[in-house]
Amino acid sequence: MAKILEGKSCAQKIEEQIKKEVQLLGIKPGLAAIIIGNNPASKIYVSRKIAACTECGFFTKTIGLQENCSEQKLLTIIDELNRDEKIHGILLQLPLPKHLDEQQIIEKIDLNKDVDGFHPLNRGLLVLGKPLFVACTPKGILELLNYYNITVAGKHVVIVGRSVTVSKPLASLLLNADATVTICHSKTKSIAEHTKKADILVVATGRINTITPDMITKKTIIIDVGINRINGKITGDVSDEAKQKSAAYTPVPGGIGPMTIAMLLQNTLLAAKRVHE
Ligand code: NDP
Repeated sequence: MAKILEGKSCAQKIEEQIKKEVQLLGIKPGLAAIIIGNNPASKIYVSRKIAACTECGFFTKTIGLQENCSEQKLLTIIDELNRDEKIHGILLQLPLPKHLDEQQIIEKIDLNKDVDGFHPLNRGLLVLGKPLFVACTPKGILELLNYYNITVAGKHVVIVGRSVTVSKPLASLLLNADATVTICHSKTKSIAEHTKKADILVVATGRINTITPDMITKKTIIIDVGINRINGKITGDVSDEAKQKSAAYTPVPGGIGPMTIAMLLQNTLLAAKRVHE
C-alpha cells in the first residue's frame, strides 16, 4: 500500500514552530504581497499565504494593482517596500500580465527581502551552494522528504519539468545534497525510460496524467507538484493509478502546496532575524 507523504501536517508543525519563534523574537516579521490583476488562482494563493502569516503573528501588507498597471508604478512600489523597515520579505505573485517585464521587475526587489528566491543573484548563489534564500517550492520538497526520513544523497531523482521557478532550483538543491539528477521536459524522448529508473520522481508540468502507472515502479517515491483545476476539483500531474502503484506519494491538495507556504514563512522569519539579531 502506497504511503501518503502529508505536506499539510508537516507544514502545520513547521508553522507552529515559527509561531513560537516569532513570540520570542520581539518584533513582527513583515511580508508584503503584491498581486496584479484578477487571476482567481493567484488571489487564492496570496490570501492563503497572508492568512498563514497572520496566524503566525507576522505583519502583512497586501498591495493589489490593476491588470493594466504600468511598470513604473510597480517599480516605485517595490522601491518603497525595499525601504520600509516593517517589511522583511516581498512577494511578487506570478505570473505577471504580459506587458510587464518579469525579470527586470524581480531584479528590483532588495536581495535581502527576496523571500521567494527568484532574484537572479539568489538563483546564481543557489547554484554555487550559498543561497540567501531558497525558492519556496523546491525548499518545501526537500523539507518534506527530510520529515519522512527519505534521504536524497546517492539517490537518483528524476524531475519532469524544467521551469526556473520550480524544477531548475530544485535540481541545484538536490545536486548540492548529493543526489543524482535527471531532468526531463516536453522535448525529452521516451520519458518513461527515465522515470522508471527514478528512486524519487518529481513532476512539475501543469498537465494532468503526465505520469501513468506504466512509467513508474512499485519502489518509486512520487512528489507531485502540479496544481490543475478540473471542473472545480484540484488535481496534480500524476494519475491516481500511478500513485496507488508507487511506494509513496504526495497528495494534491495537501502535499507540496502547504509546504510552499510554510517555506515562505520560514524565509520571511529568516529575513527578519538577519535584520534584528
Ligand atoms: P511551467 O509551465 O513553467 O513548466 C512546465 C514544465 O513542464 C516545462 O518545462 C515543460 O517543458 C514541461 N512539460 C510540460 N508538459 C510536459 C510533458 N507532457 N512531458 C514532459 N514535460 C512536460 O510550470 P511550473 O514549473 O511553474 O509549474 C508546474 C506545475 O506546478 C503547475 O501545475 C503549477 O501550478 C504547479 N506549481 C505548484 C506549486 C505548489 O506550491 N504546489 C508551486 C509552483 C507551481 P518545456 O520546457 O519543454 O516546455
